[in-house]
Amino acid sequence: MTQRKAIPAETKLRLFSEASGHCQNPDCLEPLFPVELGGAKHIAEMAHVVPHGEAGPRREDRPNDSFDPDVFENLILLCPTCHTKIDKDPASFPRNILLDWKENHLANLATKQGIRAYVNRCIAREAIAGFMAENKAIWNRFAPEHGTDFNYDPESEVAKGWSKRMRSVILPNNYRIQAIIRANLGLATEDERRIFAEFQEHVRGLAERHVCNVSGRAIRFPKAMEDMFL
Ligand SMILES: [Zn+2]
Ligand SMILES: [Zn+2]
Repeated sequence: MTQRKAIPAETKLRLFSEASGHCQNPDCLEPLFPVELGGAKHIAEMAHVVPHGEAGPRREDRPNDSFDPDVFENLILLCPTCHTKIDKDPASFPRNILLDWKENHLANLATKQGIRAYVNRCIAREAIAGFMAENKAIWNRFAPEHGTDFNYDPESEVAKGWSKRMRSVILPNNYRIQAIIRANLGLATEDERRIFAEFQEHVRGLAERHVCNVSGRAIRFPKAMEDMFL
């Protein structure tokens, strides 16, 4: 392996955010923050679709010689098992297959999670209510300082415990809530669509801080989300 520059934080963040916490192989979709690890660490690997090296897997799929292998478009987030699989058997996993996985990831994940378009707001509400309630309960119990969660010492024990819960429960719940709302945007009012956009920005900020360790400015949880589809 030649010496490489690190993948930029924004690329990493975008990958994590689009993967919604799950391996992007549609036949796998395993959680990348396994419950067994308590949110302490992730098992995600950033796999190159076409490689750096002259002899790496899928070398012949390289678009042209000036192509930068470290761009977002050439990376896919996988669990270690799937990463090994695609690199050991590149003939079965050519570039177009991997790009397809990435392209259809959110739809594949939603299908696996049983998320679909519901017939009315009442059922859509029920689908998100449990996850919202769980997040709220955890926030009430564990958030370092109510309302000022955006300004604390990340090295303190309280902050570390909070970050673990964020990665193991709150973020996965948020990704699921997003998927349900996305599948049911047809039932949402204009106001709710705007609130949903804010919520997505809020979740991006949380992932930035708690997954990618980028101290970005997270926007607060939009209070009006509590009334979504009510
Ligand atoms: Zn690789
Ligand atoms: Zn996998």
